Amino acid sequence: MCFFDQHRFVCGDWKWGHFRQHCAKEYRIGETCGMKLIMQTVPVGSKCKLCEKIDTKMRRRAAEVDRVNRWQREGSKFRASIDKSMDLIRGLDGEIYELSCERNRRLQGIGTQTGY
Ligand SMILES: [Zn+2]
Repeated sequence: MCFFDQHRFVCGDWKWGHFRQHCAKEYRIGETCGMKLIMQTVPVGSKCKLCEKIDTKMRRRAAEVDRVNRWQREGSKFRASIDKSMDLIRGLDGEIYELSCERNRRLQGIGTQTGY
């Protein structure tokens, strides 16, 4: 087992940081044995890239929903714009879903992650 820093994001996700220390099993210079252990946890004051991407798309989606609601109150005159917006929202839903799946896969990968 070799020791690494763990970078923990405010969203609860984390990633491996710098290599810190070899274990007794591994003495070759510049190599790690592939089993990673946490040396210390370094808090990161932001969300991970994936959650930031999800947040951005959620904000975009909320803005579109707002627009649609506003247009719907105006009656039928914005029908074409509403249709376009609805398509966009459906697209965003798909992307948000994909990103959450990726995040779940990453969370499940914790503990089984080995060296690369
Ligand atoms: Zn995250």
